[in-house]
Amino acid sequence: MEKKPFQAESKRLLEMMINSIYTQKEIFLRELISNASDAIDKIYYKALTDDKLVFNKDDYYIQVIPDKAARTLTLRDTGIGMTQEELETHLGVIAKSGSLAFKQENASKEGHDIIGQFGVGFYSAFMVADTVTVVSRALGSDTAYKWESDGAEGYTIEPASKDEVGTEITLKIKDNTEDDNYDEYLEEYRLRSIIKKYSDFIRYPIKMNATKS
Ligand code: ADP
Ligand code: MG
Repeated sequence: MEKKPFQAESKRLLEMMINSIYTQKEIFLRELISNASDAIDKIYYKALTDDKLVFNKDDYYIQVIPDKAARTLTLRDTGIGMTQEELETHLGVIAKSGSLAFKQENASKEGHDIIGQFGVGFYSAFMVADTVTVVSRALGSDTAYKWESDGAEGYTIEPASKDEVGTEITLKIKDNTEDDNYDEYLEEYRLRSIIKKYSDFIRYPIKMNATKS
């Protein structure tokens, strides 16, 4: 399978995030939950104008699933999903150049504080994960696609299967190092407290199940 490279500036932002200080790494969860919520919003707004689409509130939620044995943290949403092309264009580029320039300028002035303050987006997942796997099925499509990346060099995309419309993001959580503890992102109580701190305002239920189903 061909591996597609990230843009040079994407790689720079990624390095900056990966080297960000410990206390800021937790914001990856805020970013992924906010993306999941945005994806559900997109169905919600579509349903307002599309008679064929019914937004049944109970069908829309975000699930956070830690699996200590597998050392994975999975985020699942029943949002609008991404097509193959959207996986490519939305996840293949780390940040818009304007915002990256801003982030770099400020990061050099104020250390790495900027990471915690601004939405750094999907790629913040690589602060805590060695590999990120996204399986997504777009609304109106029967096919799902799997996007996978180790962050450093690029990503792959291939067909996959998924029963429901939406997105499932699996983070292979990093091993602990002398300086950084990553085990905590597999602990339910710790995840709950991060969710409470940053995602209390999210309009959709955030469910946490001990087991992956
Ligand atoms: P932003 O949220 O500011 O646009 P992100 O880096 O967080 O930037 O996400 C990039 C894009 O990837 C989003 O705009 C969206 O189109 C897509 N995306 C990310 N996560 C999801 C998801 N869970 N469901 C659907 N689309 C997503
Ligand atoms: Mg986002």
